[in-house]
Amino acid sequence: MIYHPEKYRIEDKRMQPFIDPGEIWEIIRNTRADKQRVRDVIQASLDKKRLSLGETAVLINATDPGLIEEIKEGARSLKEKVYGERIVLFAPLYVGDLCTNNCQYCGFRSSNKETKRVTLNREELILETRSLIDQGHKRLILVYGEHPKYTAGFIAETVETVYGVKHKNGEIRRVNINAAPFDIPGFRVIKDSGIGTYQVFQETYHEPAYRKVHLGGVKRNYDWRLTSLDRAQEAGIDDVGIGALFGLYDWRFEVMGLVRHVNHFEAVYNVGPHTISFPRIQNAFSMDISREYLVSDGDFVRLVSILRLAVPYTGMILTAREPSHIRDQVLRFGVSQIDGGTNLELGGYSKGKQEVQDLSKGQFQINDNRSLAEIMDELISSGYIPSFCTACYRLGRTGEHFMEFSVPGFIKRYCAPNAMLTLAEYLEDYASEDTRKAGYSLIEKKVEELAKTRDTGKLRQKLGQIKQGKRDLYF
Ligand code: SAM
Ligand code: SF4
Repeated sequence: MIYHPEKYRIEDKRMQPFIDPGEIWEIIRNTRADKQRVRDVIQASLDKKRLSLGETAVLINATDPGLIEEIKEGARSLKEKVYGERIVLFAPLYVGDLCTNNCQYCGFRSSNKETKRVTLNREELILETRSLIDQGHKRLILVYGEHPKYTAGFIAETVETVYGVKHKNGEIRRVNINAAPFDIPGFRVIKDSGIGTYQVFQETYHEPAYRKVHLGGVKRNYDWRLTSLDRAQEAGIDDVGIGALFGLYDWRFEVMGLVRHVNHFEAVYNVGPHTISFPRIQNAFSMDISREYLVSDGDFVRLVSILRLAVPYTGMILTAREPSHIRDQVLRFGVSQIDGGTNLELGGYSKGKQEVQDLSKGQFQINDNRSLAEIMDELISSGYIPSFCTACYRLGRTGEHFMEFSVPGFIKRYCAPNAMLTLAEYLEDYASEDTRKAGYSLIEKKVEELAKTRDTGKLRQKLGQIKQGKRDLYF
């Protein structure tokens, strides 16, 4: 094991824990949310300002149904104004479910002795990657339990294996990671394998609530986890993803915790997190946790809208934990990335689609079982442009969401054309005839729209090259 949290001393000022629960609750309790203030805060966000904790609390405290609708409308119009109709698609690939931690909410917890544990070997990992490429995927997130076997070197090796798979016309062009926190040397090893984003979710920002559900293993150490992405930054990984597992504590506190985490990054590293995730707790194998803080659908939509407005420049990730009707709804309020065709069973992609999920073989229950093809159809018919774009990462333009947000014309110049090019690749290589027709007519419509404000000659040329068999073209 190369990480030693028990020996971890926070001597470096930059790595001091930065959550003060008393301060957060005081702000929530002392902030008024009258109509004018709520509207001013929404406007500040639409003017592209990241909201302070006090401003976020104004939105959190708005309970009048009319004002909640205004907040949702604000989030919708921010998404539309800043990001347009693109939705980036990815898939999670579970590499190993060995775990020495005992997180009460997770099917991989060490106290679950009934599950047969699996770690994919190289051949199995290649098979899984091929199956995902066959669906049409270009972006994956590799997921691991926390275990001495899953060293930084092991993770780096699995990343390299996935990048090495070339299959028919396809390959995986961006590998993100969701794994345990490492020390700085460990993070360096993983960075060198060429990862995109490194995600670590704090689960809950409230330390007493954190201690209640993290019953054993390294993950019990709240500070080690809270400062993990600081160590990633120190190791040169500036593309990090934060998240909270909603349902462990009061959602209002978690939203403030996430915004406080963003402040911290901005203040210390001059760059915010790349993505924010907001999973809600789902059922897991023989899970038995308190239902006190479970988040209702209504509050979920509210909190996603508030997060969109509070941190207008990050990517927002919504996964297949949520059922399709909630995903379709929340998509409008600022989500930028979703997974498609998700299968959580270790080795499950190469076995084919399961009709009923076997909870003993996965981390938690998923509620959107649509295949990638089904999701693509629905996105296209609703006017979204599904995107598999990885251009920024590959050209070294890190912080793509921030650039989309802050660089005038960036989306029209890069993101929208690249989304269309990757959609065209999908239509050529993986789509049914009907999807192909619908997809190309969407592309045509979007190119015409783009042509009103810029020259689309090069884009048309590249689209033509893709039809003739060229791949991996981007701006
Ligand atoms: N083992 C690593 C860790 O804990 O950081 C990898 C993460 S885990 C495989 C991915 C995330 O799934 C966790 O951070 C947690 O937020 C989420 N998760 C775990 N159990 C869940 C459940 N029952 N419902 C929804 N999400 C869950
Ligand atoms: Fe292990 Fe992560 Fe599950 Fe906790 S959430 S039991 S650390 S896999």
